[in-house]
Amino acid sequence: MEFSQYDVNKLMYITNRPPLVFVEGDGMWLTDNNGKRYLDYLQGWAVNCLGHSPACIHDALVAQSKKLINPSPAFYNEPSIELAKLLTENSCFDRVFFANSGAEANEGAFKLARKWGKLHKNAAGENRYEIITFDHSFHGRTIAAMSASGKAGWDTIFAPQVPGFLKADLNDIASVEKLITDKTVAIMLEPVQGEAGVIPATREFMQALRALTKKHNILLIVDEVQTGMGRTGEMFAYQLSGIEPDIMTLGKGIGGGVPLAALLAREEIAVFEAGDQGGTYNGNPVMTAVGVAVAKALLAPGFLQSVQDKGNYLSQELIKLSNKHGLAGERGEGLLRALKLGKDIGPQIVDKARDLEPFGLLLNSPRPDLLRFMPSLNVTKEELDQMLTLLSVVLTELGQ
Ligand SMILES: *Cc1c(COP(=O)(O)O)cnc(C)c1O
Repeated sequence: MEFSQYDVNKLMYITNRPPLVFVEGDGMWLTDNNGKRYLDYLQGWAVNCLGHSPACIHDALVAQSKKLINPSPAFYNEPSIELAKLLTENSCFDRVFFANSGAEANEGAFKLARKWGKLHKNAAGENRYEIITFDHSFHGRTIAAMSASGKAGWDTIFAPQVPGFLKADLNDIASVEKLITDKTVAIMLEPVQGEAGVIPATREFMQALRALTKKHNILLIVDEVQTGMGRTGEMFAYQLSGIEPDIMTLGKGIGGGVPLAALLAREEIAVFEAGDQGGTYNGNPVMTAVGVAVAKALLAPGFLQSVQDKGNYLSQELIKLSNKHGLAGERGEGLLRALKLGKDIGPQIVDKARDLEPFGLLLNSPRPDLLRFMPSLNVTKEELDQMLTLLSVVLTELGQ
């Protein structure tokens, strides 16, 4: 089918997209409307943790949609209870609220923290509501989530911002300490900053944050929308640093490709009262049934170990590639990794890799001097090698 048959301009313009229309996906592969295949290292932006259209998701969708699609959030349903059980039994959290997107889960986290800060006032008897977040962080695209984010320019695009978000520097505990006031209620961070270019918070920094928040009786919130659900080789990235946060948000991988997100809190922090929080699709059984299937796959014996092993392999091979082509090294955790290019050739690499024949390679360059790799967690070693070979070809073609 020819591309011109699609009236793409009927879709509201939001970003520049290549002139491709994807029609099929299978594991690490996508097929466009001309039949060309692409090895996909975006996977829906670290969403498709089990690859494109895995059987377990297909089966869960079919089975649950035959059974019950929507009893309304006024009533309990089976899959949401089962998923909440799986998530709490495998984390330090006790209570779950399901949402539809990472930004919405983060909105819930801000609300929960502010509610808690109203119940735990400062010495002057005032509500605490300030949340310290980090420069270059990404927390989503609602107005409050954009206000929490530290992305350049986001403070002015849709001004005025939601007040109460202060920005510190990642891995600099003194910069955090400086911002604490008697209004501070929480500190929130991504354990690995994703959109910023895969920048891990160090273990020491995570531990120092936990100590600091305990000392000042403020909450520690981890935004694990990108790092959660096995991406880093642990079920949740906070587990890499041996600390227990108070609140966590999940998105992306939790639905394996369908819209599902979650807000989790420890029991004593879960202070919402009737009417404080809700949403038409919260805990929708079709989406949470998929969540159950995904979580079970990730928790199967040996699965997370295989993510760690492949993460280590990819790391080693990216270092070799970096040395071979005179690039600037790599960083990351598990299967969330970045190749540092040392110069602004990321966008050129992305275009050239996509245009390779007979099949293309889909890569992401969140910053012009960097490539980010977000394969499915069940990617094979052969598919990693295939990507590395194609990338090396592209680098050579670009004279690197
Ligand atoms: C993608 C992302 C979000 C936003 O999730 P949406 O589902 O796009 O709203 C929030 N935080 C982090 C860390 C993310 O990577």
